Amino acid sequence: MAFRHILSNLLILLAGAPRLIAQSDSVELTSCCQALADTFPDEISTSTLRSSVYEKSNTRVWSASTILSPACVFQPTTVKNLAAAVAQLANDSCEFAIKSGGYNPIAGAANIDAGVAIDLNLLNQVELRTDGGGVISLGAGALWRDVYDKFENEGIGFAGSQVGFIGVSGLVLGGGYSYFQASAGWAADTVVNFEVVLASGEIVNANQAANSDLFKALKGGGGNFGIVTKVFLQTWEQGTLWAGIKWLSIQPEDAGPLLLGRLRNFTVQNNDNTRVTASVEINLSSGAPPTARIDFVNIDGVEDAIQLESFANLEHYDDAVWDIVEEWTTEVSKATDELGMADPFVHLNFAGRFQKPFCGYGADNLEFLREVAGKYDPDQVFQELVPGGFKLNVEC
Ligand SMILES: Cc1cc2nc3c(=O)[nH]c(=O)nc-3n(C[C@H](O)[C@H](O)[C@H](O)COP(=O)(O)OP(=O)(O)OC[C@H]3O[C@@H](n4cnc5c(N)ncnc54)[C@H](O)[C@@H]3O)c2cc1C
Repeated sequence: MAFRHILSNLLILLAGAPRLIAQSDSVELTSCCQALADTFPDEISTSTLRSSVYEKSNTRVWSASTILSPACVFQPTTVKNLAAAVAQLANDSCEFAIKSGGYNPIAGAANIDAGVAIDLNLLNQVELRTDGGGVISLGAGALWRDVYDKFENEGIGFAGSQVGFIGVSGLVLGGGYSYFQASAGWAADTVVNFEVVLASGEIVNANQAANSDLFKALKGGGGNFGIVTKVFLQTWEQGTLWAGIKWLSIQPEDAGPLLLGRLRNFTVQNNDNTRVTASVEINLSSGAPPTARIDFVNIDGVEDAIQLESFANLEHYDDAVWDIVEEWTTEVSKATDELGMADPFVHLNFAGRFQKPFCGYGADNLEFLREVAGKYDPDQVFQELVPGGFKLNVEC
């Protein structure tokens, strides 16, 4: 369990011919962007057309290496507009990317060079359902920070991200690790309904009663089936949640053993306690010394939360960091293999670009995901026209 936590919580920081948008504008657009601009002129931006909107969207990311050069950014204001746009993009064989919070650190996962970048940030409405059942409805482009702000005084708990800036839908579609992991499972486990735009432009609901195969596939299957526009989450009564940080002054060379030792002790001592969680993070951000930390959180009260500082000599450069992470992950896998403790599961949200998370789901589950994708997206739009994200045609 400890090694899984370490692996799953290792964070690294680390179309067509040009046409004119309108006779008066003299702005060149690719045919894919032009077609969208003709129908949704106020929802399209490029590096020269509504450029500040384009820049803002393109740079709303976690890692600078994920800033690419899309031909245009499409920010739908309604689900209906998004649905019409997706059908149009599919029909015209236009490549596109889908972004919710933009926090995935893999370049190209939620952005695209030369294609259409769909940014869901305006589909961000969050509300407490009044039709009973303790359910909240979250627009796919909302950030968890907005969700926490909105429901702060409602006395409810729900499984969301540990960091506020992450997008609602990216987290849930990848599984979703929350402070309620031990008591509630994955955030995806607590979803009761998804609203989804399919490649055909149809808007469907997926839940236990309707499209239940799609419902199951979306819980960890990523963006392989459609664009999720709303996530309906189960809630429960929740009092104040406490956490704390204790700073330690240590030598960098002691950080590894101390960090792993603390995590191991915590795991052994709390194996049956579903109210507490622990996670390890290594953070590398430009302009600040790298840090490594271990967070202990108790959803009922204060535990000892310890932060270790100054994990020196780690590279700031993306490729170098990916190399370090890959090497480290390979070594840990080898060591756990030798101990007979290896677990092939890799949390999609924390998977590195060198990993194959769907292979860890097992052959039957992967086959199931492929069948569902074939049923709801028979033309393979989300496999072939959306290059970002982990795909289902992976070789295991
Ligand atoms: C600092 C930091 C802290 C983190 N903390 C946590 C944590 O506490 N728990 C956890 O589980 N993960 C955590 N993560 C990982 C995070 O969940 C993933 O990176 C996730 O992919 C980010 O979601 P997003 O919406 O911000 O990402 P995006 O980059 O916008 O999207 C991620 C992927 O999902 C696809 N996608 C997004 N929305 C949709 C949609 N509506 N329909 C179809 N496809 C879609 C995108 O195309 C892309 O491939 C953390 C990451 C960082 C950098």
